[in-house]
Amino acid sequence: MYNIQIMQVHDKGDNDSRDSNNNQKLQTFDVIIIGSGPAGYTAATYTSRAKLKTLIITGSLPGGQLMTTSEVENYPGFPNGIFGPELMMNMRQQAERFGSIIVDDEVIGVNFKQKPFFVQTYSKAYLSKSILVCTGATPRKLGIAGEDEYGGRGVSYCATCDGPFFKGEDIAVVGGGDTALEEATFLTKFGKSVKLIHRRNSLKASKILQEKSFENSKIQFLWDSTITKITGNKKISTISIKNVNTQEEKELNVGGLFIAIGHEPNTKIFKNQLEMDDHGYIVLKEHSRTSVEGVFAAGDVHDFRYRQAITAAGYGCMAALDVEKWLTEKKNDNNHKL
Ligand code: FAD
Ligand code: NAP
Repeated sequence: MYNIQIMQVHDKGDNDSRDSNNNQKLQTFDVIIIGSGPAGYTAATYTSRAKLKTLIITGSLPGGQLMTTSEVENYPGFPNGIFGPELMMNMRQQAERFGSIIVDDEVIGVNFKQKPFFVQTYSKAYLSKSILVCTGATPRKLGIAGEDEYGGRGVSYCATCDGPFFKGEDIAVVGGGDTALEEATFLTKFGKSVKLIHRRNSLKASKILQEKSFENSKIQFLWDSTITKITGNKKISTISIKNVNTQEEKELNVGGLFIAIGHEPNTKIFKNQLEMDDHGYIVLKEHSRTSVEGVFAAGDVHDFRYRQAITAAGYGCMAALDVEKWLTEKKNDNNHKL
């Protein structure tokens, strides 16, 4: 039984219907897009342009991860780069231009077991014939002094995005998984040196990536080590490193620190509703379909491999086309009530 209390109801309209308790009237959409990163806004541009009644619920980070960065140099169409927040404001306006309704609120519960699907935010509840999940993922943080302060000023969570800004610098990478090794290898193209700092004395990464990085003379390994503090002035200059066995502390001068200790997909609200893998990423069945018919997903919430703005936008486009096709099929299917 769905037990989140409905705090406020929406305006009544032609296609309003009863909520899960059958006692309130809620507005019904063709598609509700949960999340407002590149995947969500791109999808909304497509669905609203296709005349689907579209609601985007932005979440606590309207615009998504790119709102937390400065210059984006690898999004096509901007030969001189563009600031992350500006790119995301453009995407938002483009979605609005075709009639998407955008609410700055966060989804706190869903019921995908009822039709139309039920979505609860902090302030309102909604119904929808289809759902597109674009809630992205959040890079894990070390949680140490200086991490937030030097974010975008030498501290990065994405080597593909920021590597080229660190030409000729001494770079440190923290983590021992596939991502850390891939990022360290990539960064050797730019950095004077790359030090991989790992909290244990063996790596979690796949054997093939381990072998490649051990063979790369530009990568040095600092084992059994954690970073305790990040300092600098206008930008990062030093990290403090502690050996977890001896407790010995030392300082290392760096021009960049890449934190590659994994991501957390933003999927807690979909627990027991959608199939996920062991790490909490949404599992796709066919194209952008999830385990529930009528619920689709796009972007970093399922894609732990590419994690780029352009790939998220691309997935958003694909999912929007899938939603549109599915709704058309269901509309023409007399046996299926949406
Ligand atoms: P996200 O951008 O993660 O957006 C997720 C959205 O879901 C957010 O709006 C959030 O508020 C919303 N949400 C989450 N939970 C809920 C909820 N319960 N209810 C409602 N909404 C919810 N990529 C590049 O290509 N180039 C770069 O230069 C680049 N730089 C980056 C710099 C930084 C600092 C970071 C962190 C990432 C960078 N990336 C870059 C990666 C890129 O930002 C992501 O791959 C991309 O944003 C993923 O898009 P998305 O739409 O899947 O999700
Ligand atoms: P991951 O596999 O979860 O590895 C995270 C690493 O960070 C681990 O080595 C972990 O240490 C370390 N770590 C975690 N929290 C830490 C903390 N607070 N302080 C210091 N270190 C910390 O994450 P990932 O490398 O991002 O990979 C995620 C998934 O994507 C994996 O399934 C991976 O196989 C996949 N992936 C695949 C490829 C590829 O196939 N080419 C590329 C990238 C990612 P411990 O080892 O001690 O736990």
